Amino acid sequence: MNDNVNILRIIRGTTVDGPGFRTSIYFAGCRHRCPGCHNLQSWDFNAGKTMGIDEILEVIEEEDYDVTLTGGDPLYNPDFVICLADRIHSLGHNIWLYTGFTWEEILNSHALYDAVSHIDVIVDSPFVLSQRDPDLAFRGSSNQRIIDVAQSIKKGGINLWRRE
Ligand code: SF4
Repeated sequence: MNDNVNILRIIRGTTVDGPGFRTSIYFAGCRHRCPGCHNLQSWDFNAGKTMGIDEILEVIEEEDYDVTLTGGDPLYNPDFVICLADRIHSLGHNIWLYTGFTWEEILNSHALYDAVSHIDVIVDSPFVLSQRDPDLAFRGSSNQRIIDVAQSIKKGGINLWRRE
């Protein structure tokens, strides 16, 4: 596992990356290359600042917010995501993760599936410009799905997240 990853930024108190106030961790690096991507800088794995898990946890612990892992795409560092997610859960926070991989691609990859099984909710699939809808909550295009991971694994099919 990489002991460090590059982080573009950490935003505390955001309300756009999942329900409630959240701390969002933006991982550097993405190879999905979606046309119309909102942040071309995020494609570079060397962008931002190199950080380890303890350093990221210190920022998360400054607030009592749930956490979102986004980017870029955090799933290009699946082992790091597993370790970070376990530490975040031990603090009592739930975790959302944004990825350009589809749920079906995740099921076909041991590494991706292992990582996602440590997450509460994922927003899957690449951004599709022709399906962009600014009125959608927590996602950019209508092909993207907000998936309750534990329920989907339990039921053996996609179980969409519903706001309580
Ligand atoms: S997955 Fe996200 S960060 Fe990556 S290219 Fe697509 S829109 Fe951009």
